[in-house]
Amino acid sequence: MITPLEQYDPQMYELLRQEAARQSACIRLIPSENYVSKAVMAATGSCLTNKYAEGYPGKRYYEGQQITDLVESIAIERARKLFKADHVNVQSHSGAVANLAAYSAVAAVGDTIMGLALPYGGHLSHGWKVSFTSKVFNSVSYEVDPETGQFDFNKIEELAKQHKPKIIITGASAYPRKIDFKTFGEIAKRVGAYHLSDIAHISGLVVAGLHQSPVPYADIVSTTTHKTLRGPRGGMLMCTAALADAIDKAVFPGLQGGPHMHTISALAVALKEADSPEFVAYAKQIIKNAKVLSETLMEKGFKLFSGGTDNHLILIDLRSKGIPGKKLSKALDRARIETNYNTIPGDPAKPFNPNGLRIGTPAVTTRGMKEEQMKIIASLITKVAENIDNEEIIAQVGRESLLLCSQFPVPEHFIIPEKRFSLI
Ligand SMILES: *Cc1c(COP(=O)(O)O)cnc(C)c1O
Repeated sequence: MITPLEQYDPQMYELLRQEAARQSACIRLIPSENYVSKAVMAATGSCLTNKYAEGYPGKRYYEGQQITDLVESIAIERARKLFKADHVNVQSHSGAVANLAAYSAVAAVGDTIMGLALPYGGHLSHGWKVSFTSKVFNSVSYEVDPETGQFDFNKIEELAKQHKPKIIITGASAYPRKIDFKTFGEIAKRVGAYHLSDIAHISGLVVAGLHQSPVPYADIVSTTTHKTLRGPRGGMLMCTAALADAIDKAVFPGLQGGPHMHTISALAVALKEADSPEFVAYAKQIIKNAKVLSETLMEKGFKLFSGGTDNHLILIDLRSKGIPGKKLSKALDRARIETNYNTIPGDPAKPFNPNGLRIGTPAVTTRGMKEEQMKIIASLITKVAENIDNEEIIAQVGRESLLLCSQFPVPEHFIIPEKRFSLI
């Protein structure tokens, strides 16, 4: 029981060490990813992983909750203050489960839900056909205009009038523009639907005041905790006082058993971090970096969906370059630049072989990279795209990526990647 990981399971220790080295020696541009602080990581790896705490503070089904009640109450209070929400539930194990809980709180099996279609930037859990959510509910999808990148609110309202959804879901996984949650909320009110706003990607921008908050305009707001919010992996729900009881019951006992208290303690730490001028500066830099990265890519001849970005995320339309998204993302990975291939709104290509590349700036901004480094990254991406079949050049770009990474250290945790930059 007391043998250190390094001695007890050297194989796993070595893998974790290698992953730490990889995360350090790689330009990570996947927009849903980040680096947590040392403080958040410490709480994630705490003794609270040993504790069962089914129920809520003050109403648990197990004893020994002297500490867990305090931990969860602090997380809830910090989230309530930061998001200005009436009620918060911090127990969802992930963003997808938080959404499922939200649906089950206000809709019954067979009811209609309406969200943004996956190939148009929506999330699987918003009722897309391969998701269980589309089997439990009758799912209707709206789209975004492929040319302008904007929502056609008249069209969306017509669709809602036609299908009478119980819930209208707003929010996206691959959308580079601001979303007008207020107008969506008004549509939901007019058609008698609940408005669930999923801000998984942008919650860090919302708390920093850089994106309209849906909290005043939505009945329920869901978010992940590990994207721009920069906390541990998990989900969170916010709602009006009227729905507090229904949301809590939907999470536990509706969908989950015991909450992951170690994650909740780490979330509390992340929320403390997010409630600071440093975090606001971080979020501003995320957006500045994305602007410069997008403008430089366009100067280099890349076409971007909607012609740019207002947030942390950029969707590169590769159709004009004639390179499949997967081929470019794999070549970039060999060049130590992590991205993910993605569908482009209006492109009929299948999600498994799409013509888009999704990138974003939350993780590189956490490392301290700024506008100057974004220009370098755009050049590196361009070099790989223009030499997609030349492994020598791809390897050369890999060395340049490594050099850039070596100047921007990442927060180090208990497994130290000794040989991080040994390839320089
Ligand atoms: C990432 C994401 C989720 C899912 O979060 P998981 O924690 O991976 O389950 C849900 N909704 C949106 C909009 C997302 O971007």
